[in-house]
Amino acid sequence: MEKEIVKRRNIDKIIKILSKHFHYTRRTTLNRMRKKPNPYKILISCLLSLRTKDANTESVSKKLFKVASTPSEIANMNIKKLEKLIYSSGHYKKKARTLKHVSKEILERFGGKVPSNKEELLSIKGIGPKTANIVLCFAYDKCVLPVDVHVHVVSNRLGWVMTKTPEQTEKELEKILPKKYWKEINGLFVLHGKEFCQSFSPLCTKCPINSYCPRIGVKRSR
Ligand code: SF4
Repeated sequence: MEKEIVKRRNIDKIIKILSKHFHYTRRTTLNRMRKKPNPYKILISCLLSLRTKDANTESVSKKLFKVASTPSEIANMNIKKLEKLIYSSGHYKKKARTLKHVSKEILERFGGKVPSNKEELLSIKGIGPKTANIVLCFAYDKCVLPVDVHVHVVSNRLGWVMTKTPEQTEKELEKILPKKYWKEINGLFVLHGKEFCQSFSPLCTKCPINSYCPRIGVKRSR
């Protein structure tokens, strides 16, 4: 049955085309961090990546980690200094508060070590399901599905799922996506969403998987 679903949705073919198109060297900052995983840095970079471009996340993370790269360094940093360091990531005031709170929680409740299970990660205010799954997948090599807005939008347009929220998409993808793809899907669909499958008016004419896409819900495309 699972094989039939995968075949019908062209899952193998689509992943193969996207893996070729988005060579490893072009994968997202967080995806590249998997090579030498530091759970705390992955968590902080993920929090910085919210509502900003990937290139921004990379430069801001580097700048911050040169000055502070441990829970105690960020928890004890002057908030104004932290805001200045992460200013270009956008929403810097809110992000600075989150970074300090999360670092303090990790220090006080988890002995300075980022938790490696979802319940504990979600118990920290500021960490949502996507961030928790990114940490589990990229830092602890656990088989989970990090679903953000790109994964949600692309999966629906391809007709793999019919869902309204990233949380629902995570649950539905768990049922149909072979586990061997779980760790890759976020990096591939994030890049695909940025280059071709943007929320508003996707670039379907140039999309490398357009022959397999029913474009469900797409009202306007280029
Ligand atoms: S054909 Fe269009 S809607 Fe489908 S995946 Fe490509 S860009 Fe997205």
